[in-house]
Amino acid sequence: MWLTALFGKAKNISSDLASYEKKLDRLDICNKCPHKKDNFKFLFIKKKGVPQCGICKCALIDKTIWQDEQCPKGKW
Ligand code: SF4
Repeated sequence: MWLTALFGKAKNISSDLASYEKKLDRLDICNKCPHKKDNFKFLFIKKKGVPQCGICKCALIDKTIWQDEQCPKGKW
């Protein structure tokens, strides 16, 4: 999680935060997506109960907060 959080911060350093409503809308779409994983897993990092995108491997809580982030499948 810290690795993706760090990567996310570096990747999004010039990005604004999305509005709370936008984040909730994105998470709602992810929650219905067949690519969503319920438990985060990346290299040696495993986090139970932390949702992850099965395509880009981002932690969805972190990914959805950044304004310029995009769904790799074009769903949001
Ligand atoms: S970011 Fe896109 S592909 Fe990934 S879980 Fe969300 S809706 Fe699905």
